[in-house]
Amino acid sequence: MPARQPVYLDYASATPVDSAVLKAMAPYWSNKFHNPSSPTLAGQATRRAIESARHTVAKCLGAKPHQIVFTSGATEANNLAITGRQAWLDGRILVSAIEHESVLEPARLGQHGVIPVSARGEVDLGRLEKLVNDEVALVSVVHASNEIGTIQPLNQIARLVKSVRADRARRGVKRPLWLHSDAAQSPTTLDLHVDRLGVDLLTLSAAKIYGPKGIGCLYVRERHQLQPNLRGGGQEWGLRSGTEPVGLIVGFAAALERAVANRAAAVASLEALRQVVLKELATHQPDISLNGESAHRLSHLVSLHVPGADGEALVMALDQAGFEVATGAACAASSDAPSHVLTAIGLTAQQANASLRLSWSTQTSAAALKSFVRTLGQRRRALDSVDPKP
Ligand code: PMP
Repeated sequence: MPARQPVYLDYASATPVDSAVLKAMAPYWSNKFHNPSSPTLAGQATRRAIESARHTVAKCLGAKPHQIVFTSGATEANNLAITGRQAWLDGRILVSAIEHESVLEPARLGQHGVIPVSARGEVDLGRLEKLVNDEVALVSVVHASNEIGTIQPLNQIARLVKSVRADRARRGVKRPLWLHSDAAQSPTTLDLHVDRLGVDLLTLSAAKIYGPKGIGCLYVRERHQLQPNLRGGGQEWGLRSGTEPVGLIVGFAAALERAVANRAAAVASLEALRQVVLKELATHQPDISLNGESAHRLSHLVSLHVPGADGEALVMALDQAGFEVATGAACAASSDAPSHVLTAIGLTAQQANASLRLSWSTQTSAAALKSFVRTLGQRRRALDSVDPKP
C-alpha cells in the first residue's frame, strides 16, 4: 500500500514553489541563461527581465524601482539593513527582543539596545519611547513574528520615529534615525505599502511566499546612504555585487505579485482555518494555550504551549504519525537553547521547550487540522506513558 502523504503544517518555515512561479522562472534556466551584464542582445534581454521584476516588486510595496535591492534572502537583507550604514554602527541600534537572529546577530556588532516585548507578544511602546535617545540611529522591529505570529504596532513606532526626528531637527541634533522592519512573513496576508507602514528599510524573502529559496530584497528609501556588505562587480548599484540570479529574481517578483493579488481571499480562508485549530484545541485539549495572545496576529500561524511536553520529541512523534510541524523557528532548531522569542514573552525555558508552531496554507483542509489535533492528543498520551513525568 502506498504511504500516505504527510500533512505539511510548517508553511512559516518553507513554502512549495507555486506552479505559475515555476513556469515564469523556467526559461531563465535554459535558453535565457545569459549574464545580464553582457552587452549582447540576449544579455540585455535578461537585464530587462530583472528590471521588469524590480518594477513589479516596487509596485507591490508602493515604492520606486531604484529603492529595491535584490539579495539572497531575508538574512542578507537584514544584515545589509543593520550594518549598511556607518552612522548606525557609530550610534546605537535598537532591536526588539523577538527579532530573527539575522537582525540580532549583526546588531550585536555595534552598540545596541533591546526593546522589551509584552507577554502578549507586542513591542512595549512606552519602553521604546524611553530608549530612543539622541544616540539611537536605527530602530529595527519585525513586522510579524515568524515564531509567535504577533503583528507589531509599526504605524505607532513609525509615528514615534517621525516625532523624534522632528525634535532632533528642532534641536539641531544631526544623527539620523531610520526605521527598519523584517517583513519576511507578511506578504501573503498583510499590507506592505512602505509609506503606510512608515518604514525606511523593509526586508522580504521569496521563500515564505511560494517563491524560490535564495532570493529576497531590501527596500531602501534613500539608497545612496547605504554601503555594501558584498563588494565586487558592482551589481545592484554597487550595494550587492555578484551576477544576478535572473530566474530567482523573476520568480520572486511573480510570487510577490500573486501574494498581493490573492491577499484578501487568502486572509479569509487562512483565518477560517485558524478558528478551526483554536476551536478543536479548546474542545479536545483545553490545557494547551497560545504563546503571545495579542489579537493582532498572522492568520496562518499559531505557537502553542503544550504543558508538560518535550517539544522536540512531540515533533518527531507527530512526524512519524504523518504531520510535519515545528517547535519554533526552523533556523533556531539546531540550537538546544530555549527560543529567545518565547523567553522574551515570559515563558520559562521549560515552557519554551514545550512549544509547537503550526502554520498552514490556503490548500490545507479543515479536516487535516482536525485530524492533527486528534493525533496530537494521542501522541501526547503515548509520550506521557513512555516517559512519565516525576
Ligand atoms: N526573518 C524572518 C522573520 C524569517 O521568518 C526568516 C526565515 N525563518 C528569516 C528572517 C531568514 O530568512 P532566509 O532564511 O530566507 O534568509
